[in-house]
Amino acid sequence: MAAFHCPNCGFRVDPGSLGPGAPLTCPSCSVSVVVPSIPGTTAGTTSASASPPPPPPPPPPAEPAPGPANFSPSWTSVSSVGAVGAIPPGQPVPKCSRLVYILLAVFLGQFGIHNFVAGHQARGVLQLALSLIGYVLAFCTLGVSVILPLAMHVWAIVEIVTVTHDDRGVRMN
Ligand SMILES: [Zn+2]
Repeated sequence: MAAFHCPNCGFRVDPGSLGPGAPLTCPSCSVSVVVPSIPGTTAGTTSASASPPPPPPPPPPAEPAPGPANFSPSWTSVSSVGAVGAIPPGQPVPKCSRLVYILLAVFLGQFGIHNFVAGHQARGVLQLALSLIGYVLAFCTLGVSVILPLAMHVWAIVEIVTVTHDDRGVRMN
């Protein structure tokens, strides 16, 4: 064990055979000190004899992300809504005629029926749910609030003008 300096008086103490952490009395000032661990003596031999670091583990096999694959159908339909010419003529039949869509939107638009028929399920569910919530609110407030059903009906009228294709992008005639 290498000699060290007493932290109290600075006297050079020889710990002899005592290891690091062993209690010791300084021969100069008689203060109890602890043999310090000297870096480089034990750590150096440890690192020198240490085995080389193991190779890094192989990366896990790359899995294809399921997210984009699941969303691709809706993506396709959304993107093909505007592309009328991309649809081969004569192959797809629209889910409902444009006239039926308009009539349903005019009379039952706030319930989203026209969107159900045309295949726009998500929008239909949203309109139906919001209208029902609006009617429940109107009932609870003695008919004061019919804002939501009215808003859904306005939405349906707007869709008469803007929506000309079903959910597959097939034009309704
Ligand atoms: Zn001392």
